Amino acid sequence: MARRKQIYEGKAKILFEGPEPGTLIQYFKDDATAFNNQKHAVLEGKGVLNNRISEFIMMGLERISVPTHFIRRLNMREQLVRHVEIVPIEVVVRNFVAGSLVKRLGLEDGSALPRSIIEFYYKNDELGDPLVSEEHITAFNWANPQEIDDMMALALRINDYMSGMFAGVGIKLVDFKIEFGRQYEGDMMRLIVADEISPDSCRLWDMETGDIMDKDRFRKDLGGVTEAYREVARRLGVLRENESSGARGPVLVSDNEK
Ligand code: UDP
Repeated sequence: MARRKQIYEGKAKILFEGPEPGTLIQYFKDDATAFNNQKHAVLEGKGVLNNRISEFIMMGLERISVPTHFIRRLNMREQLVRHVEIVPIEVVVRNFVAGSLVKRLGLEDGSALPRSIIEFYYKNDELGDPLVSEEHITAFNWANPQEIDDMMALALRINDYMSGMFAGVGIKLVDFKIEFGRQYEGDMMRLIVADEISPDSCRLWDMETGDIMDKDRFRKDLGGVTEAYREVARRLGVLRENESSGARGPVLVSDNEK
């Protein structure tokens, strides 16, 4: 690891220079943060689980021809991804009321929304990722109207796909956040899904019991965070029953495991 050039370190991931131009290595840390970095913990094994879950979801999106930055998983904590220019907007899709929507609009936690709602947040830690409208996004050139249309259309397809995928394993997709990146190929540019899609960025409730299976367990001090993530991974079939997610460092995956 020491030989590689670090490009960026975020709250839950590190990006290293990739082996070829146009690629990066995305390393999943065990760090968990909430409330704009005011709360921090190291949850052993979380990075391993998110690497696997995000891989599984990104591969599923590729299969329905939603383009993503994911190329392939390298080992327990790392994946090879396409180097993109991140659009500084977090796109949130909501199916049920939760989190900031409860506080902002005084709606009942868990109630169904009349239709899926898309929101945009400006990616800026100093400002605490404020909610913004399409007007702000275009006025400040964070994205153009075509890109906003593309992000909305992709977000709804991703929502349909993931809602069905999770429902199939008894999990309700309450809401989630996705990020997009610009990929340049000659004169062409396209938007592709970047970052990660994992229980860190989704709200996932057990359909039978209502149990929380996502980062809210950490935000609300409910405990059992990695256990819940492991259960999500197990239900999606991405962890073998006897596989440990508690690996401390990167472990090379043998060929027959891929
Ligand atoms: N979310 C995220 N990163 C953020 C903010 C939100 O991944 O910086 C996710 C969050 O996990 C939830 C959805 O986006 O699945 C909607 O979050 P909300 O706006 O309710 O904010 P929160 O209550 O998480 O502060």
